[in-house]
Amino acid sequence: MSSTFLVALGSNRRHHLYGLPRDVVHAAMEELSALGTVTARSPVISSAPMGAARRRFANAAALIESEYDPESMLAGLKWLESEFGRRGSRRWGDRVLDLDIVLWSGGVWRSRALTIPHQSFRERGFVLTPASAIAPDWRDPVSGQNVRQLKARLTRKATLPR
Ligand code: ADP
Ligand code: MG
Repeated sequence: MSSTFLVALGSNRRHHLYGLPRDVVHAAMEELSALGTVTARSPVISSAPMGAARRRFANAAALIESEYDPESMLAGLKWLESEFGRRGSRRWGDRVLDLDIVLWSGGVWRSRALTIPHQSFRERGFVLTPASAIAPDWRDPVSGQNVRQLKARLTRKATLPR
């Protein structure tokens, strides 16, 4: 039985073949077809560095229809990250390619290695902006809000006077 995954892509390092982060993200969106049928690809946006990262990121989102269960999809995404030359996993550090599962049509998944919906996607404009371009009506099973609403809520928060 197939299900749908909303995957977030990020890069903030050049790749020796693909070039700039935005080109890495474009290439990775193509390579995702190795894991299923890619039914939608968002535009690539540019976002500020966060955590331990020092360079700006290119970000995007894609929808993949796949026979894989969530753990196999995660394994496939990690394989793709390593194909793109990602070494080590300093959390939030500079990286050639980061692939995260944001939402899954099966709903909630919680294991030691994997939490779906992604723990912090509701606070990340660089995930919600591309996600809202391809799946605005997808409802987050935890908050009950759809992607469009989550993005609007985050935008309101960011512009609130302190
Ligand atoms: P981050 O994406 O937060 O910068 P990493 O890419 O290094 O950090 O991922 C750290 C670990 O997070 C992965 O090894 C993976 O097992 C785990 N993880 C938990 N939930 C998810 C998810 N929804 N998507 C991707 N990885 C996840
Ligand atoms: Mg990751």
